[in-house]
Amino acid sequence: MGSDYDPADTTCSFCDRNAYEVTMVQGDGAFICEQCIHAALECVQSEDDEYDVVPEPQRRRAQWEQTSPKAIKEGLDEYVIGHEHAKKTLAVAVYNHFKRVETRKGTGGVIDVDLEKSNVLLLGPSGTGKTLLARTLARILDVPFSISDATTLTEAGYVGEDVETILTQLLSAADYDVEATERGIVFIDEIDKIARKGQNTSVTRDVSGEGVQQSLLKVLEGTIARVPPKGGRKHPEQNLISINTRDILFICGGAFVGLPAIIARRLNVNVIGFEADSKKRMDHHSPDILEHVIPEDLLKFGLIPELVGRLSVVAALRPLTDEAMKRILTEPTNALIPQYEKLLRLDRLYLQFDDEALDAIVAKAQQQGTGARGLRSVMEDLMLDIMYNASAYQVNMECRITRENVLHGSAPVVRKRWA
Ligand code: ADP
Repeated sequence: MGSDYDPADTTCSFCDRNAYEVTMVQGDGAFICEQCIHAALECVQSEDDEYDVVPEPQRRRAQWEQTSPKAIKEGLDEYVIGHEHAKKTLAVAVYNHFKRVETRKGTGGVIDVDLEKSNVLLLGPSGTGKTLLARTLARILDVPFSISDATTLTEAGYVGEDVETILTQLLSAADYDVEATERGIVFIDEIDKIARKGQNTSVTRDVSGEGVQQSLLKVLEGTIARVPPKGGRKHPEQNLISINTRDILFICGGAFVGLPAIIARRLNVNVIGFEADSKKRMDHHSPDILEHVIPEDLLKFGLIPELVGRLSVVAALRPLTDEAMKRILTEPTNALIPQYEKLLRLDRLYLQFDDEALDAIVAKAQQQGTGARGLRSVMEDLMLDIMYNASAYQVNMECRITRENVLHGSAPVVRKRWA
């Protein structure tokens, strides 16, 4: 290793790992880490003629044809903390979805029953990772992905966005490749906000909400939709693009505030008469309450039966525990703390977070009630002054962040590193 070697600036030329993570060997203008050396050695020693060492990110982007529910779940684990059951449910649903697509195309061959399309409904408090799950799935499967907000949609003919704009967004995410669009994943957020209000449907039903639900049905089930290529509203002279939605996977998400109470009421009513004082009585604050949802609860909430029928896979996310929030800060690929560490390392300022500081960040974020989203705003607050001053410090300084810095906003101590 040369004397001008600086771990802050040193990444493996093959896999991009940093010299802090792995031992590095310096070559002529390049570095290689011990892990890539081993991988390269294995390739050279194998019988294969293929000597390419495929870096990590590309391996994750394996074609969905070669994947499995386990591999999908493992891919989700890299980005999404917790939600074990929901991740398994999603992995199986997505795997079956693509199997269905494949067998219908004839390449899978043997299955002659028509496998039903199953779109997914994700229930869970805001900021717990619903969008992240859908986005990560698309990344693992290497398919186009778009997010639409159900609250912006209106029935065709009303002022607002037609349901087809969902497809225009996906088409744009697929770089206007229709074939890719037709096997993409769409996340429709805030689906709970288009529920009809109140149960007395004939008098108080919210026509617009129900109308939007109706107009979503066809798209979710599979139809040939004709969409304007660059968004906007359709007009007669426009060339429209036909998109078959049969193989598009729709994942609908929502916080469904009020649903826990509906579920708890049903569960407790059922228990009365059998084990009225049993521990089985469910409080609507129980973290796992949404996992007990049945279609009837969704109907009571205000979704129409046809829509519930088309969202046949339901996965519930629990509120994030303190422990999960702490892991979110440090563990996932692109976690916040390593990002800040990396950013400041470029100024040769080395961050160090006390464990109690992490607990304090979590506690502050939990107070906001916005799930993991709160972590970002607490971190931004905390890091503002440090980042503002970072370039003014001497190089090779160390900044230790304590519980007090987080809770009381005091400036962290910055001192010479390795002193
Ligand atoms: P939701 O769609 O449930 O409102 P998001 O998926 O948009 O929440 O989450 C907001 C952000 O919070 C994500 O981009 C991610 O950075 C973080 N986040 C939320 N939940 C998790 C989780 N379970 N694991 C890792 N990061 C998470």
